[in-house]
Amino acid sequence: MTNILFIGLGNMGSGMCANLVKAGHEVHAFDLSAEAVARAEAAGAKAVSTLEGFDASGIEAVVTMLPAGKHVTKVYLEDMPQSTPKGTVMIDCSTIDVETARELGKGATERGFPAVDAPVSGGTAAAEAGTLTFMVGGTEEAFGLAKPILEAMGKKIFHAGGSGNGQAAKIANNMLLAISMIGTCEAFHLAEKLGLDAQTFFDISSNASGQSWSMTSYCPAAGPVPAAPSNRDYKPGFAVPMMLKDLGLAAEAAGTSGSSIPLGEHAKAIYERAAKLHGEKDFSVILPMLNAGEVE
Ligand code: NAD
Repeated sequence: MTNILFIGLGNMGSGMCANLVKAGHEVHAFDLSAEAVARAEAAGAKAVSTLEGFDASGIEAVVTMLPAGKHVTKVYLEDMPQSTPKGTVMIDCSTIDVETARELGKGATERGFPAVDAPVSGGTAAAEAGTLTFMVGGTEEAFGLAKPILEAMGKKIFHAGGSGNGQAAKIANNMLLAISMIGTCEAFHLAEKLGLDAQTFFDISSNASGQSWSMTSYCPAAGPVPAAPSNRDYKPGFAVPMMLKDLGLAAEAAGTSGSSIPLGEHAKAIYERAAKLHGEKDFSVILPMLNAGEVE
């Protein structure tokens, strides 16, 4: 049993926090939203109403699940309780930019807190089911401390290398997902225009060299994969603004690292248009956009 402070109880964090409780950890839960804290308390966590007044002297691990780099920076540099004991492992599961992750990891380590960036793959359903995939960056020592805690929230845990490498794996993976989803949507669009129905094209391509996760697990055309958002009017799932956020991080990282990502940049432009027209929909909404002539 580990004594954990969990910060950020939103769509993802609430399920992750509940799974830590279920695994027998003592979890102290904080969010800026009192409603979110009350939900965590109902799931068995101990409510923390302010970080300032919280006695963290018994804490062994801090898990954060926050929207973006600026929120994690604020929590790490301003809000973390002074009483947090040296040696406490810092586990940031948010998706943030690689540079900020590396700076925060280095700073925490220098202050005596082993730290990992541990972004996740899998959405809210995986967060609730405890089946997330974690991509972890940090030293062997920090990874060793974080792993048993991550195991309560996920099924697959990868050590991607040093600090920031978890975020690097996450954004490169999601850039590939965006490109492959757009490609899959274009293929269904073209096949239908040429007279093939979606099921026929799926049956062929999912058994041929066009096969991908976007096709066989998350088919953007309604019918072939019953659980896919295409069967419920593209209700997310993984919403367009989330994909756009990750493509923005990929573009930023490409700029700072001198990488060339022409298709990643083009995918970002297409998701910018999707965010304007269908911001509340799943990221597979590109297929109906192509059918409606909304993407050029
Ligand atoms: P969310 O907006 O639902 O939750 C974020 C929570 O953080 C909110 O409850 C907010 O009140 C809280 N918060 C913000 N600043 C805070 C602070 N200073 N102190 C305490 N709490 C604070 O977001 P989410 O969907 O849970 O996503 C969290 C992270 O996970 C993001 O980085 C996102 O990119 C990533 N992610 C999300 C999904 C998904 O499907 N939702 C999938 C993979 C990764």
